[in-house]
Amino acid sequence: MVMSLNIKEWPTPNQDERPDDPQKIDILVLHYTGMVSAKAALERMRDPVFKVSAHWCIDEDGTIYRLVPEEMRAWHAGLSYWRQRHLVNDTSIGIELVNPGHEFGYRPFPPPQMDALIYLASNILARYGIRAANVVGHSDIAPLRKQDPGELFDWARLARNGIGIWPRATMEPKFEPVALDLGASGSEVLQLQKNLFEFGYGLSCDGYFGTESHAIVRAFQRHFRQARVDGIADGATRAILDNLLDQERDEA
Ligand SMILES: [Zn+2]
Repeated sequence: MVMSLNIKEWPTPNQDERPDDPQKIDILVLHYTGMVSAKAALERMRDPVFKVSAHWCIDEDGTIYRLVPEEMRAWHAGLSYWRQRHLVNDTSIGIELVNPGHEFGYRPFPPPQMDALIYLASNILARYGIRAANVVGHSDIAPLRKQDPGELFDWARLARNGIGIWPRATMEPKFEPVALDLGASGSEVLQLQKNLFEFGYGLSCDGYFGTESHAIVRAFQRHFRQARVDGIADGATRAILDNLLDQERDEA
């Protein structure tokens, strides 16, 4: 890919010091802006009243805005959890992708924007040695509140470019497809919850498929099984989760 990178400086006061060693950066979080225009989103991210920001923002034409230096903490994740980390902002880099989002006319992320993201994200992963399973969406780390970057975001293309974890093509389901939905309970639900937790999601493993499990299955599908995002843990969804966990265990 030939890229002529267009980076613009867009400094914001919405940042502070990272509490830990600034080099201990181990999560990359992808977002959409969810506002009517790029201008509105960029203005909000430097408005001290709103206290939100990201390190980077990429417009639909591929223009990259640098808002917060990576060694500083940007304010993009909010209340969040991923793999034992309760304050994801502390150790993550946040990238916002301009898109109106589900509220204002959700649409596909155009090629120039994706090209710029692949370039930037590859660079970040290489510099910090961030592991594949720690490339997440906002919806993965705050599944009860957030839907971004959503089911139109091309995670598969990112994975083909070495960014993030993705199910192996040769995957075989390990068990009969039994769909688990709201109200289900028992050992299969408990195993599903343990698997989701092991993979990184924050949920209680109580063997009851309530609204929390439902929201987390939905978040998982938004990322890894975009063809059907309904919060029902069907056989395909569970097989994908199994497959990803196998890859993670191989890596560990
Ligand atoms: Zn977000």
